Amino acid sequence: MPFFICRTCGAQHAESDSPPQHCVICEDERQYIGRYGQQWTTLEELRAGEYQNKVMETDPGVVSIFTVPQFAIGQRAILVRTGSGNFLWDSTTFIDEATIAAVREMGGIQGISVSHPHFYSSVVEWSHAFGGAPVYMPVADREQFVRPDPVVVWYEGNVDLWPGLTLIQTGGHFEGSSVLHWADGAEGRGALFTGDSISVAQDRRWVTFMRSYPNFIPLPAPVIRQIVAAVEPYEFDRIYGCWLGADVRSDAREAVRRSAERYIKWIGG
Ligand SMILES: [Zn+2]
Ligand SMILES: [Zn+2]
Repeated sequence: MPFFICRTCGAQHAESDSPPQHCVICEDERQYIGRYGQQWTTLEELRAGEYQNKVMETDPGVVSIFTVPQFAIGQRAILVRTGSGNFLWDSTTFIDEATIAAVREMGGIQGISVSHPHFYSSVVEWSHAFGGAPVYMPVADREQFVRPDPVVVWYEGNVDLWPGLTLIQTGGHFEGSSVLHWADGAEGRGALFTGDSISVAQDRRWVTFMRSYPNFIPLPAPVIRQIVAAVEPYEFDRIYGCWLGADVRSDAREAVRRSAERYIKWIGG
């Protein structure tokens, strides 16, 4: 039976003989149903089309992977090449033999996590392609994880994955929203990989925090403070955002602090 994929958010759902009735991720107020209604595809159908993945080194140890032409939300996945192994942060819906071969050449994948449900994509396929690498997922967003599989390791709170590699549960955008901290990133000054949990603004000296980006729903002041407090104990100079080039290149810890202050001022907190 096929594993249907929602064309709007790109999440692959549990196997079923006909397309599911609903996508819980898109029906949530943080996402939306596409303008032509709920539509489905499959990985097989995408592979028969014009899609391909670009695998590009962004910085030493940081490899961006994204699909062209863009599919669904279009976020990049990032392969973080640590001294203890390769960790895949976020994921893409499209994955094919060429992608698998390129990543295998870099040592494969030993662990995976996704910042929040909008980027769940084909994360289980990624794991299966790399020997069933563990997929760390927060219990808090379990109902949004639409393709259950034994490779998933459910967690609560922060997770010390490997030496110098930590999942930090910030909450905010989703209850289980998380970021990945890599102490050796940014030439040893520390890097944070943030998905939508802390989003890099167009002016890349700044970041922002939203309940919904497409529907422009803000977060309240106490939640902004909670996100800042969650990352405060960690040293980091750089933030890698959801898209290629959406990075705070330096002084990122200060950028988070000052962006939170500005945001709270403007929402009257
Ligand atoms: Zn969807
Ligand atoms: Zn999101």
